[in-house]
Amino acid sequence: MTWADRISPAVRAIPPSGIRRFFDIAAEMEDVISLGVGEPDFVTPWHIRESCIHGLNLGYTSYTSNAGLLELREEIVRTIQRDCDGLTYNPRNEVLVTVGVSEALDLAMRTVLTPGDEVLIPEPCYVSYQACTILAGGVPVPVVTTMENNFRVTVQQLEEKLTNRTKVLLLGYPNNPTGAIMPRQELLAIAEFAKRHDLIVISDEIYSSLTYEGTHTCFASLPDIKDRTILMNGFSKSFAMTGWRIGYALGNPDFIAAMTKIHQFTMLCAPITAQLAALEALQSGGSSVQKMVAEYNTRRRLMLKGLREMGLTCFEPQGAFYIFPSIKETGLTSLQFAEELLKAEKVALVPGDAFGASGEGFVRCSYASSLPKLSEALERINRFLKTGLPRLKK
Ligand code: PLP
Repeated sequence: MTWADRISPAVRAIPPSGIRRFFDIAAEMEDVISLGVGEPDFVTPWHIRESCIHGLNLGYTSYTSNAGLLELREEIVRTIQRDCDGLTYNPRNEVLVTVGVSEALDLAMRTVLTPGDEVLIPEPCYVSYQACTILAGGVPVPVVTTMENNFRVTVQQLEEKLTNRTKVLLLGYPNNPTGAIMPRQELLAIAEFAKRHDLIVISDEIYSSLTYEGTHTCFASLPDIKDRTILMNGFSKSFAMTGWRIGYALGNPDFIAAMTKIHQFTMLCAPITAQLAALEALQSGGSSVQKMVAEYNTRRRLMLKGLREMGLTCFEPQGAFYIFPSIKETGLTSLQFAEELLKAEKVALVPGDAFGASGEGFVRCSYASSLPKLSEALERINRFLKTGLPRLKK
């Protein structure tokens, strides 16, 4: 028996992230424009960094309570109440500060899943959803959304995938990789579906403040749904704080206590430095977020116009910072397209099937990059379609 054979079946069952592969290739090449990474190109606003430095100068270097600094939890509760139609949580037992939304997702899955339980996951979706489900012993059940339906999930699609093992519905809107959002009216129907079938809903709303068209509806704020919903959000995207590793989960006291139990034995607590910075972000970061959102919106329009003008069919993203053009008409697979484009024009983007089989035929471009870089990337993609691609087909 080899060492590899001794690795747990759950770990062996999860494929490595399709995003990293392209990072690694691109990192070895010169003059590459990467539209691959789901990471803001902004540096965390100065006042947020400064609050952390100030905290360090004052000697804040210890553990915090497992659930996180009470002051931060109180500020999270105030923010949610302000942004989510008056939705209220008790900061003492309904909030957990986590090491990014990544940890919150893992904790939530491990808290509610019994081996064999099924999780409905609208797809294409963020790469971790399937992996976290499998690692927790669950079975991911993809619910394929389509460009024709604006990449929104419908109750009918969910009903079709329901079995007597379905326990969780995982929603991720605004969506990575499609940029889709779910309007309130459609979420109301999904909330009724969740209640009708007694499902737990995990709602990853990490891109909530990056909504450009319409308004974001917080799922937990819908009538009578709060108790069965684990709401998660974080700082990585909205405040350009990916490296700080900080996020949070909100839910009923039973779920949060159980998640805190795992968190206390695995993380103990989120780093105090990041918690101090997060507190400052919530207290005074609003205008920085507004500026970044305005800039992303300009980039979004540039990308949409540019990709459509070169003939690619492209859904108009309404949130997050990704655009998901169809490359079906090129005759290449998503992987071939991404590889050939990288070789020919040194533009890195992510093949759509990294986000589930239903992402095949699409590629994800992140527009969290400067306008000059995006313009240059568009020129290169256009050149690839006009000259590189025909050469390839000969
Ligand atoms: N959820 C979604 C939809 C994401 O796109 C990402 C990161 O790309 C995460 C969660 C992870 O966020 P965090 O940095 O808070 O762990």
